[in-house]
Amino acid sequence: QKQVIPFQEGDASMIAHLGGKGANLAEMTRAGFPVPPGFTITTEACLAFFEKGNRLSDALLEQIEESLNQLEKQKGQTFGDADHPLLVSVRSGSVSSMPGMMDTILNLGLNDKTVQGLAALTNNEKFAYDCYRRLLQMFGSVVLGIESSHFETLLHRLKVNGGVHQDQEVTADGWKELIEAYKACILSKTGRPFPQNVYEQLKLAIEAVFKSWNNARAQIYRKMNRIPDDQGTAVNVQSMVFGNMGGNCGTGVVFTRNPSTGENTFFGEYLINAQGEDVVAGIRTPLAIAALQEEMPAIYEQLLDASKQLEKHYRDMQDIEFTVENNKLYLLQTRSGKRNAQAALKIVVDLVHEGVLTKQDAVSRIEVLHLDQLLHRGIDEASVSEVLAQGLPASPGAAVGQLVFDADTAEEWVKAGRTVILARTETTPEDIHGVIAAEGVLTSRGGMTSHAAVVARGMGKPCVCGCEEIRIEAEEKRMFAQSRLLEEGEWITLDGATGRVITGAMPLLEARMTDELLVVLKWADEIRTLKVFANADNPHDAGIARGLGAEGIGLCRTEHMFFSPARLPVVQRMILAEDKEERMKALAQLLPMQQSDFEGIFEQMEGFPVTIRLLDPPLHEFLPNLDDLQKRYAQLTYERESEGSIKEKAEVASMLRKVQALHEANPMLGQRGCRLGIVYPEIYDMQIEAIFRAAAKCIDAGVQVHPEIMIPLVGHVSELKILRELVDFVAQQVLGKDKLRECPYKVGTMIEVPRAALTAGQIAAHADFFSFGTNDLTQMTFGYSRDDAEGKFLTHYVNHKLLPHNPFQVLDTEGVGQLIELAVNAGRLVKPSLKTGICGEHGGDRESIFFCHRIGLDYVSCSPYRIPLARIAAAQAFL
Ligand code: PEP
Ligand code: MG
Repeated sequence: QKQVIPFQEGDASMIAHLGGKGANLAEMTRAGFPVPPGFTITTEACLAFFEKGNRLSDALLEQIEESLNQLEKQKGQTFGDADHPLLVSVRSGSVSSMPGMMDTILNLGLNDKTVQGLAALTNNEKFAYDCYRRLLQMFGSVVLGIESSHFETLLHRLKVNGGVHQDQEVTADGWKELIEAYKACILSKTGRPFPQNVYEQLKLAIEAVFKSWNNARAQIYRKMNRIPDDQGTAVNVQSMVFGNMGGNCGTGVVFTRNPSTGENTFFGEYLINAQGEDVVAGIRTPLAIAALQEEMPAIYEQLLDASKQLEKHYRDMQDIEFTVENNKLYLLQTRSGKRNAQAALKIVVDLVHEGVLTKQDAVSRIEVLHLDQLLHRGIDEASVSEVLAQGLPASPGAAVGQLVFDADTAEEWVKAGRTVILARTETTPEDIHGVIAAEGVLTSRGGMTSHAAVVARGMGKPCVCGCEEIRIEAEEKRMFAQSRLLEEGEWITLDGATGRVITGAMPLLEARMTDELLVVLKWADEIRTLKVFANADNPHDAGIARGLGAEGIGLCRTEHMFFSPARLPVVQRMILAEDKEERMKALAQLLPMQQSDFEGIFEQMEGFPVTIRLLDPPLHEFLPNLDDLQKRYAQLTYERESEGSIKEKAEVASMLRKVQALHEANPMLGQRGCRLGIVYPEIYDMQIEAIFRAAAKCIDAGVQVHPEIMIPLVGHVSELKILRELVDFVAQQVLGKDKLRECPYKVGTMIEVPRAALTAGQIAAHADFFSFGTNDLTQMTFGYSRDDAEGKFLTHYVNHKLLPHNPFQVLDTEGVGQLIELAVNAGRLVKPSLKTGICGEHGGDRESIFFCHRIGLDYVSCSPYRIPLARIAAAQAFL
């Protein structure tokens, strides 16, 4: 099988084999764009390499050599030839874009002899030796694994000794001196000289790029973006063009539209006399692309023209890397440009209006993971006092946190429950775990396309970069701005939308829907068949949910209404009551409180269904902590007695007794849900009464109500049967015949115990609806404690791929999903009109929503801020 494909033989459809970069290089080559020739080694070759214990097979090496010979003919140069040397770059290129996560080596094919040939050919000795030292440095660090700081130190020393500041000022002799120092460094660190054999260089470089698929940062990135680990990467071997040959050369990155705002304006950055990575690495701060129009007008026009064509060709905004070699333009890569959610929305809406995309295309293009960004926060301007510095607005959203200066600390502090802002001179992919942990990222160097900017935008994380007014001294854990010293732990606020760095923790404002989002959501609503409900427990959240497009409430957890300071003591009295009479008194006090909440919710959701779940959690959740009580009791026992302490001791002893009596070894499997309602019917009685009184009041006020009363944790049909009778009885009592007609209520159950799913047919006979409580259903199907599993073994399981995902985040369709499907089918067989939905956390997860659509549920219910995401995911599931 062919594992090496020349650019001219591939095309965009071969992305699974060629990776994104390779497929696009092939496509561009075919379409006649000026792409330096080369070839791609396929992802299959990568997987075979891993299978062979990280060895390149002889057959593959043969194919590579063949393609290299072909490339030599195309270029009229020969790899390793002293007079006309062919030089190549070796770059990774995975199927899903993973910017900056894997390795690249440039200028391959240079050695002590070919460097002279390059110097003679270009009549530019300084350039040739600059390329050679770059190769030694990249090869040394990327392929041979030598800490790059060793090379940096040698370069720094050379410049200090030579009295120069910029790399460009170093002379040819300077580079020669550095090359010898680099070679010595490589020899001493690895025990072997830098390979002069260019084939050896190429082989090692390809191996290194394959291996970089498994480096730590790539693994983290894949996990975060849910990219499968078994894709492997392709490798692109491409003939070099040089942006660092002098003043009529350069290199840069352009976006066909603004990736921060989505505006249809040409956007990008470049550097004159620089090579490939200089721009993205953020080592020198580049110029805005507009400046190229003045510096190289012809090239600018050509680039603009190519960009427009590429965007049309791919029907999407493109991110294009280019190099100018001696006034000739080359395109080195094009890909769909990373963008933030707002830009993504604006771009698809514009493309629909421009007639390039259909509404369906637009909806299916929305990345729901990024939609969160839109619901991002901003700064309350009224409270901004001191703007410390101004950087580039690299990724919108506001972030508040304590300053840290390295990724490890960021991660540690966040684990300890703090929120942090990561400040770095520039970020590298090694900092990825810190970027993930931080609320926001600040860099003092690098442009809008620097690593920090690209990565943060992708994550929807606020980022301010290139903030040159700030000097960061990471070793000393401090930074300076406007002669002010800020140390680790100080609070700052970033505004990624404007680039401002502000001292102190500013209050933040919640995000709002944008016009473009509203347009796309409307399109999504036209497409989807799955309804989207909200999990909301109070009128305020219900209002937000309505505003975000909820078509009802799928889960109102009534216990959440009991946690406020005013209510908790009453709830405790209710629980600790010595007898029924005492309990009834406390319940009577709770009733009006619940009733007024229900009234508020009904008003907010007027006309839409409101699913109210009767009390569910174990009662001890409302009580003082047993350990604390025991400790206090012991303390009081050892203390000298006083009048106060005797009284307190008696109280503590009484409380302790009650709490001990209610204590359970396994409360999640204990006295909760409907079990509670059956043993203490007066509790549910009160709740049902409150619901129907609220309904009656709303009806009187002309508000339509559709209460749906939901019984939690049913495992046996008899539980539902008895409680349904209670609901119907109370409804009749409260509403009377006339009102009953105006209040079309439903009674249903949560399916969250496996036995309920297995006996769904029986249960459906007494239920108007099923709502799958997939949090508990996952807990009970796996037998994993939902409160403890992550911290104990589950993270390990996911990291070691024993499970594809955390099943509490992404629904386990194979196991838990099978139970759901079975229950839906069995239930509908008995009752075709049975309404079905899901209200566990999975209701806001894209993949899980796809599953819900596929098995034909009527609705998903999720937290208010995930509703836009769910509306779009539901439409995508349909497409
Ligand atoms: C569930 O178990 O999925 C559910 C929605 O209920 P809770 O999370 O309140 O247990
Ligand atoms: Mg539950």
